[in-house]
Amino acid sequence: MIWRTPTTMASRGQLLVLPLLLSLLASHSSLIQLSWAKTVSVSDTEQLMPEPRAYSPDAQHLDFVYHDHEELTRFLRATSARYPNLTALYSIGKSIQGRDLWVMVVSSSPYEHLVGKPDVKYVGNIHGNEPVGREMLLHLIQYFVTSYNTDQYVKWLLDNTRIHILPTMNPDGYAVSKEGTCDGGQGRYNARGFDLNRNFPDYFKQNNKRGQPETDAVKDWISKIQFVLSGSLHGGALVASYPYDNTPNSRICRSSALCAMFQTYSAGPSLTPDDDVFKHLSLVYARNHAKMSRGVACKSATPAFENGITNGAAWYPLTGGMQDYNYVWYGCMEITLEISCCKFPPAYELKKYWEDNQLSLIKFLAEAHRGVQGFVFDPAGMPIERASIKIKGRDVGFQTTKYGEFWRILLPGYYKVEVFAEGYAPREVEFVIVEQHPTLLNVTLQPSKYLLPASSASSSSPVVSQQQQQQRQVNGKLQFPPTD
Ligand SMILES: [Zn+2]
Repeated sequence: MIWRTPTTMASRGQLLVLPLLLSLLASHSSLIQLSWAKTVSVSDTEQLMPEPRAYSPDAQHLDFVYHDHEELTRFLRATSARYPNLTALYSIGKSIQGRDLWVMVVSSSPYEHLVGKPDVKYVGNIHGNEPVGREMLLHLIQYFVTSYNTDQYVKWLLDNTRIHILPTMNPDGYAVSKEGTCDGGQGRYNARGFDLNRNFPDYFKQNNKRGQPETDAVKDWISKIQFVLSGSLHGGALVASYPYDNTPNSRICRSSALCAMFQTYSAGPSLTPDDDVFKHLSLVYARNHAKMSRGVACKSATPAFENGITNGAAWYPLTGGMQDYNYVWYGCMEITLEISCCKFPPAYELKKYWEDNQLSLIKFLAEAHRGVQGFVFDPAGMPIERASIKIKGRDVGFQTTKYGEFWRILLPGYYKVEVFAEGYAPREVEFVIVEQHPTLLNVTLQPSKYLLPASSASSSSPVVSQQQQQQRQVNGKLQFPPTD
């Protein structure tokens, strides 16, 4: 089977040259520079890339069994020592009981950010008693490092993406959960009894739950790296679920059991302005999975999901979830992947779960290369950090990195982007997205002519100052002023 890659495969050298080229272009422009071009030419052979190969496990290094925290740590350390050019291991913090929250970066540039290359992530085991995702992520790491030189698709993905993998966000919960337990809450929570997927700040409701170390570590992590795309792995259902998880009308529904009962009354989808993209991302996972897109119910009493996807709130609303936080606060497109009907199935089934999920796990990450990517510069060609960006009509924004980079996953069509930065005149630029390759967009901002010293800025430059005030509102959430 042949897969047509949705992306342009820019080599590392080309990506490094890109900002320089763009800044040269920018320096010759007046007002705004719209430079969109194919990042590189794509040959027919590159477009017709074979599917990732099936992974033959190397039992000597990673067997299909559950790995406790010591074994998991040993595997990650051994892998990073054995593949120093493809991996980097770091910890984002510790659990309440002192277990490290390990993250493995897998990339051809594991230690340094290459300009123009998106960062993506997977988070496993946020619920301690749902460890299939934890094991899948270990096998994904193993697959990436062992097939980089033999699998063309994996080589392209690792050459153009920095993949951060947190196999377990809740190691303390895992430590008290039991293999073979398909339902129930034993091990779901952290060591203080908090559900970590109800522990994030919420866009719709005040979340009064005390912040936990595991949640704080993840919040800190995603504030430092601008992740473009993310998947959070769970168990207990078979579905890809997308934001929002919460809704302004969630009061009626306080637990998943209640919500299931009152679903037809309480729920309704709670859709984001990026609903088309979220549905697409969910379908990429479901359709590449061995059976998720069939939408068969796990049990007769549980819902069946058309095409194996659902809006989170339409299934059951929840407050304090991780995916809404990723999206609303940082513009990161995170979805929730429920990959096993049984939360903690027996180990002998793990190989089958890997076979079912391998292709989905890999192809989902490649979606970070769909849409628009680019840079925001000043007239001298210097990058503008923390410029606020919004795709018009999609009122959840995001910001440029310190290199002035931005990314946004978008489906083919015509769009306008709005760019704001302190001290610069806001700009609006039109661009086109096509299926075959990402659109490269270079935006140059001019200093605001009307900015006076701070004491008189509010009267002389209402547009900029109002925007800045509004952007600072609501706990640092990226909010944009309405422009039309
Ligand atoms: Zn879960």
